[in-house]
Amino acid sequence: MKLVFATNNQHKLEELRQIVGPGHQILGLSDIGCNADIPETGSTLQENALQKAMYVYQNYGYDCFADDTGLEVDALGGEPGIYSARYAQVCGGIGSGHDSKANMALLLKKLEGKENRKARFRTVIALVKGGEPRFFEGIVEGEILTEPHGEGGFGYDPVFRPEGWSKTFAEAAPSEKNAVSHRGRATNKLINYLSNA
Ligand code: IMP
Repeated sequence: MKLVFATNNQHKLEELRQIVGPGHQILGLSDIGCNADIPETGSTLQENALQKAMYVYQNYGYDCFADDTGLEVDALGGEPGIYSARYAQVCGGIGSGHDSKANMALLLKKLEGKENRKARFRTVIALVKGGEPRFFEGIVEGEILTEPHGEGGFGYDPVFRPEGWSKTFAEAAPSEKNAVSHRGRATNKLINYLSNA
């Protein structure tokens, strides 16, 4: 079965191909000649993921899935949420987006003096198969530390400590992170569905 993963991130694509195995051929956007900056104008992770998957289905005719992830911090009313990638730029007027250090600095500043540091990563995968949408969600609960720890991972990993852990995602091996992560959990649900479809 041929399926497009609406991403330009080669790392995500390879990771998914390995998990899915040889039963499904997973194509990336570059494999179908799509260089478009696919619009992501929704107000929820679900809307954004669906927008990307539907764009490929409607314009290229392939069944497709897409993901969207956000960090949700309780004391900040769910921020940065859909703005996670460009938090410092959109909510702090700092930098030009996709700047993890600036994003973490803004997050830590906004949490200064707050006791409740509970947060979660949430990933939503939208699959559009035969024009029909279906959603798969993965969540990992945890808390935001007061300063970064660790060099691994990406994004907010150095300040996120999963529930029951004594270290951050940035201090964990990739396999340890994938076993409990939001993206790992959402991906497993997608794969279960595809293998039984
Ligand atoms: P995306 O939807 O996967 O592109 O994720 C949006 C943003 O959320 C990223 O740019 C990161 O800032 C953040 N993010 C997503 N997944 C992770 C993760 O596993 N660890 C840390 N930050 C993440």
